Amino acid sequence: MRLRDFPEEELFLQGSAACQGCPGSAALRVAFKALGKNTILAVIASCTSVLQSPYPASALGLPTLNMAFATGGAVASGMTAAADRLVKNGRFSEKPTILVWAGDGGTYDIGIQALSGAAERNADFIYVCYNNEAYSNTGTQRSGATPYAAWTTNTTRGKGEWRKDVAQIMVAHGIPYVATASLAYPTDMFRKFAKAREIRGTRYIEIQAPCPPGWKFPSSHTIKVARLAVQTGMWMLYEHEGGRTTYTAGTQRIIQGQAKLAPVEEYLRAQGRFRHLFEPERDEKRIAEIQNRIANIFETLQFTHKMKEHIMDIEMAPPR
Ligand code: SF4
Repeated sequence: MRLRDFPEEELFLQGSAACQGCPGSAALRVAFKALGKNTILAVIASCTSVLQSPYPASALGLPTLNMAFATGGAVASGMTAAADRLVKNGRFSEKPTILVWAGDGGTYDIGIQALSGAAERNADFIYVCYNNEAYSNTGTQRSGATPYAAWTTNTTRGKGEWRKDVAQIMVAHGIPYVATASLAYPTDMFRKFAKAREIRGTRYIEIQAPCPPGWKFPSSHTIKVARLAVQTGMWMLYEHEGGRTTYTAGTQRIIQGQAKLAPVEEYLRAQGRFRHLFEPERDEKRIAEIQNRIANIFETLQFTHKMKEHIMDIEMAPPR
């Protein structure tokens, strides 16, 4: 799939109320193109509740239910049961894709209980967390997804804790499909949505969503920051299905040795929310902590990849 092969029909319409350079609207556009018209959307309280524009106008070209923060998993469980019933009694010819669209606040913190319950029941829907790593629609407060050392309005010297990893928590639920995605790799994102559409049960896709006002970078740099996140290892691209994790796109290239892991400083310096790590003086300790954590993860993944290649070489060697 190339960019020019994306469907031309736009289901994310003009006139949204999003900020310039908003990652949420770009992600919605790709997701809608991959999932198509037979999709019903549940928007959980987040920037997407606002950016769809004030009632009665809407930039969302799909039937949409706007719901409270804590309700994503519960609402989608009800929607998918209702859709099954409508198919059974002949009122729907085909079951629509049920799509939950939530931010990290509605996923990592306030909505995790309902999501976990639905995932444990393997309820049939796609849950998307567009992760802008803070409560951006209320002015950038810290969330469970905010990375270590990042500024928010209530972590003014930088967050003291590492973010939790909800994608891995969803892997631990044993659901059929978990994937991460990046705006800088739209074909990879499209492919993951298209694949998720064909799978039944709970599917979870998490998109890193660099937010210009919250992360303090120019609105023209959204894709650049998203790409740097992958190139420096701050965000990893993978999909997990059938008990197996496959790394994809930029992350795969680093693990397989086709690209080098860029220094994390390039990512940190691109955003005002990490400025206190460099001014008024360089915070060597915290920069090194972040870099070492990434290096440890990638060393392990690169070692595992080499071992697998080695084993395949042995298996494929002709018998003597
Ligand atoms: S605050 Fe960030 S995520 Fe929210 S609408 Fe603006 S750019 Fe998009």
